[in-house]
Amino acid sequence: MISRIDLRGSTEDPRGLLPRAELDVEAALAKVRPICEDVHHRGVEALIEITERFDGVRLTDIRVPKAAITAALETLDPAVRAALEESIRRARLVHREQRRTDHTTQVVPGGSVTERWVPVERVGLYVPGGLAVYPSSVVMNVVPAQEAGVPSLAVTSPPQKEFGGLPHPTILAACALLGVDEVYAVGGAQAIAMFAYGAGECRPVNLVTGPGNIWVAAAKRLLKGRIGIDAEAGPTEIMVLADATADARHVAADLISQAEHDPMAASILVTDSVQLAEAVERELPGQVEATKHSERIATALGGPQSGIVLVRDLEQGLEVVNAYGAEHLEIQTADAEAVAARVVNAGAVFVGPYAPVSLGDYAAGSNHVLPTGGCACHSSGLSVQSFLRGIHVVSYDRDALAEVAGHVVTLANAEDLPGHGDAIRARFDWTVPNQ
Ligand code: NAD
Repeated sequence: MISRIDLRGSTEDPRGLLPRAELDVEAALAKVRPICEDVHHRGVEALIEITERFDGVRLTDIRVPKAAITAALETLDPAVRAALEESIRRARLVHREQRRTDHTTQVVPGGSVTERWVPVERVGLYVPGGLAVYPSSVVMNVVPAQEAGVPSLAVTSPPQKEFGGLPHPTILAACALLGVDEVYAVGGAQAIAMFAYGAGECRPVNLVTGPGNIWVAAAKRLLKGRIGIDAEAGPTEIMVLADATADARHVAADLISQAEHDPMAASILVTDSVQLAEAVERELPGQVEATKHSERIATALGGPQSGIVLVRDLEQGLEVVNAYGAEHLEIQTADAEAVAARVVNAGAVFVGPYAPVSLGDYAAGSNHVLPTGGCACHSSGLSVQSFLRGIHVVSYDRDALAEVAGHVVTLANAEDLPGHGDAIRARFDWTVPNQ
């Protein structure tokens, strides 16, 4: 059901030896380019046609009526409402703490630089809705944007045939709970193009965030520059670093939990305990069979992107963990806190036996839109920071400029850009030496 990779005798850099999903975004670009161009040139008309082709829904309007959003909340199961409210409350607690304050550095008397944090003016938030629907992703996108102070935000999610061509009602209800009333029933690459170019009632946005499938990722890559993007969040990943003290039932359940997202999802156990590896191998088939999406899970666990990696000791385990840069990393070892402190590459780290990834998916307070495909080695998950720009405000008076004028002119000349130096010299009647 899941393959084994034995690195105990290896002294090589583990990077090339680890399983990883091959997501050919470049190949998908050829397909999404005409989709995006069509939306650019024909707007709503193109969106309606493309949606009919890929989602099997003939939209009458791309925008979800306000009444449908309100109705979705009114008919929401009270238990789901309570769970969403708790998820929102916890996410707000964490994300509110991420707000930045402006800071002024007095460089010299009369000369200062202020870093002013300004929210992006308009953002588009993509909430997936193909294989599964993700009301939790509404929370994870909207809360940091709101806490950052973004003045205008729109949500889009694929239309669902069985719900009259609207996004899933739980997604609409989550929007209502968060006070979002600009919602579109558009998915895939066409949704990203709608946000980038604008169409009908949807004005263009400055930034698009949120996870999606390969078509969404390819459209984000194509339109990056015209719009900002958070990341090309690909199929989800879980890596569990565990020793002999871990409970094989828990480890197996956690590997399954993320494999449930997608047949391309990656579930990897890294362990120095052959006994644990064998116990997890024994545990998996029964748990997979007993769960709802067993086919999708078996495909993900059996895929080349998943596996059990045997290491000599936790030292080598940490090397593997840091080389891989997992989206979600669980530490289930005797001294989990100390091991977690040595992780430098991961989207989010879940420490100890009672912090499974599922908790973070819904209600830990942390964000679940996280970097995949090794991007955790250079990027962070979604946060308030993702929706802010730090603008440097430079304020110098005459004396402060005079003090450094000679150095600026020297550096301008060293770069053979004398016009730069002249912009300084002109302010002092050309008395600053041109050296
Ligand atoms: P999705 O909303 O991303 O994609 C569905 C859309 O794809 C449809 O609306 C359709 O228009 C378009 N589409 C379908 N087939 C197409 C084709 N052949 N050509 C062009 N467009 C086509 O939903 P999904 O497919 O379920 O993917 C969601 C992804 O997001 C999964 O991989 C999941 O693991 C991931 N995810 C990641 C995170 C994270 O934080 N990293 C969180 C939640 C979900």
